[in-house]
Amino acid sequence: MRGLMMDTPLLISSILEHARGVFADQQIVTRTVEGPIHRYTYAEAHARACQLANALAGLGVGQGDRIATIAWNTHRHFEIYFAVSGMGSICHTMNPRLHPSQVAYIVNHAEDRVLFVDLTFLPFVEAVADKLPSVRQIVVMTDRAHMPETKLADILCYEDLVNGHSDIYDWPTFDENTASSLCYTSGTTGHPKGVLYSHRSTVLHSYAVCLPDVMHLAESEAFLPVVPMFHVNAWGTPYAAPLSGVKLVMPGPGLDGASLTELMNAEEVTTTAGVPTVWLGLLNHWRQQKTSVPTLKRLVVGGSAVPRSMIEIFHDDFGIEVRHAWGMTEMSPLGSVNVLKSSLRDAPAERRFDVLSKQGRPIFGVRMKIVDEQDKPLPHDGKAFGTLKVQGPWVCSSYYKLDESEAHDAEGWFATGDVATLDADSYMAITDREKDLIKSGGEWISSIDIENLAMSHVQIAQAAVVGIADVKWGERPLLIVVPAPGTAPAKTELLKFFEGKIAKWMIPDDVVFVDSLPIGATGKVLKGKLREEYADYQPTGR
Ligand code: ADP
Repeated sequence: MRGLMMDTPLLISSILEHARGVFADQQIVTRTVEGPIHRYTYAEAHARACQLANALAGLGVGQGDRIATIAWNTHRHFEIYFAVSGMGSICHTMNPRLHPSQVAYIVNHAEDRVLFVDLTFLPFVEAVADKLPSVRQIVVMTDRAHMPETKLADILCYEDLVNGHSDIYDWPTFDENTASSLCYTSGTTGHPKGVLYSHRSTVLHSYAVCLPDVMHLAESEAFLPVVPMFHVNAWGTPYAAPLSGVKLVMPGPGLDGASLTELMNAEEVTTTAGVPTVWLGLLNHWRQQKTSVPTLKRLVVGGSAVPRSMIEIFHDDFGIEVRHAWGMTEMSPLGSVNVLKSSLRDAPAERRFDVLSKQGRPIFGVRMKIVDEQDKPLPHDGKAFGTLKVQGPWVCSSYYKLDESEAHDAEGWFATGDVATLDADSYMAITDREKDLIKSGGEWISSIDIENLAMSHVQIAQAAVVGIADVKWGERPLLIVVPAPGTAPAKTELLKFFEGKIAKWMIPDDVVFVDSLPIGATGKVLKGKLREEYADYQPTGR
C-alpha cells in the first residue's frame, strides 16, 4: 500500500524561497574580493538570485546547461548557486588551484556555456580562454567601477548583468532527480572525474548538515565556511545555511589567520568548517598575537586527517570543540562526523581524545561497511581494517559521462579508496588511503598514524610519511618533516620519540627536513608527489 502523502519534489529553489519568507532579515555578510564588507539579508539574496535567473534566461541559458564558476566564498557566488540550480541549469564550481590545463580539460568535458569568474582569477581565465570553445560568455563578478582591463572580448560585468532585471522569477518545478550541480574530483590519478549532484541529493544532504551532531546550523548561530565553495560546494553549507536560517559569514579571499580572526570576532561567529591546514595557520596566529575568537564554539575539520594534537589544543587552550569529519566529493561530501557520545563525556581525557581523533560516526543517510580483499564484511572491533564502502542518497551512483566505474559494485556499494576500522560504537577511523598504506615485510603501516604522532612533537610543524622501496622489506616508511618555526630538531631525537609509542618495525627508517610540503588544490599534502621525489632515497640509518 502506498502512503498518501504529497509527492512534492525536493528542489534547491525551495530552500532560498523558504529563507526569503521565514528568515527574511537574517544576514549574509561577505568580505568582498574588492575589499569592503558587504551585508544583506536572505530576502535580498533571494531577490538578487531572481534577477540573475532572469538575466541568464536572457542570455539563452536553459535547463541542463552547465554554468561554471571560478570564485571565492562571497554573496555573489551564493546568488549564482541558487539562480543557476533553481532555474534547472547546472552549477559547475571549479577549483582555481588546479593546473590551467586541468581547468581547460574540465570545462571542455563539462561543456560549460557561461563562466563566472572572480577578479582574482581573471588572469588565469585569460591564459586558457582560447582553449574553451564551449564557453559563450564570461562574466566578471564585480561592479562597473572595478571592471579590469582585459584582452578578452565580449566580457560581462556581474552587477550590470543583474541590475536592470526583474526580481520576480517563477522558479520552475521539475523532477527532484534533475541534476543541480557538478564537481570534479581532483584527479590525482588520471583525469578528474565529474560528480553530478541532484536537487534531491542536495536537499537531503542539507538537512543532514544542519543536524545538532553534524554542523549544528540554526537561526541562533553564525557560521563561517572557510572550506571554499569551489571545493565540494563548501561541504554543502551554502544550501544548508538558508535551510536553517543561520547567519552566514563569507570570508572571500581572506583565509589567513589574521583576516579570519578579525571577521569571526566582528560577526561573532559560532561555527566554522575547513581543512586542517587552515586551522594550523589560525592557531599560529592566535599563539603569536595572543588572541582568539571567544564566540567560537565548534570547528568542523575534515578533508584529511586531523592531528590529535590540534583537537587537544583547541579544546584545552580555547574551549573549542573540534568535530573531525570525513567525506569525499563523491559523497556530497559528508559521510561521518565525530561528536563524543554522552556516555564518554566523563571518561579520562586520554580516552576521550582517542575517540575524538577518529573520523566519527556515520550520519543518517550514509551506510558504511568495511570489507576484506574478498569483499567479505569485517568485524566492528576497532582493530580489523579493510576497504571502506558506502551507500546512500547523496553518494554518486556513477560518474558524469563515464560508462564504467570500477568503484561501484553490483550491490550498489561505492568503494571509497580508503581503508578504515569501525568500532563497536560505530566510530569509523581512517587507517589510510589505499594508495598511501605502506607494506613492510607483509605488514601494513598506516602513514596517518605516524604523521599524527609526529605532529604531537613540539618541534614538528607538519609531517608526511611515505613508503620508499626497500630490498629486504618491500617498503619502509620515511618521515618528511617541516620543523616548527625557530627549531632545529635532531634526527635521532625525533626517531627516539616514536620508541614505545608504536611498534618498533613501524618507526620510520629516516627523517628528511624540508621547508614546506607540496599541498594540492584542496589543501591536502600531495603524497604521490613526495613518493615520486623520494623514490630513490637511501636512508642513512637510525
Ligand atoms: P580529492 O582529495 O580526490 O579531491 P576529496 O576532496 O573528495 O577528493 O577527498 C576525499 C578523500 O579525502 C577521502 O577519500 C579521504 O581519503 C580523505 N579524507 C577526507 N576527510 C578525511 C579525514 N577526516 N581523515 C582522513 N582522510 C580524509
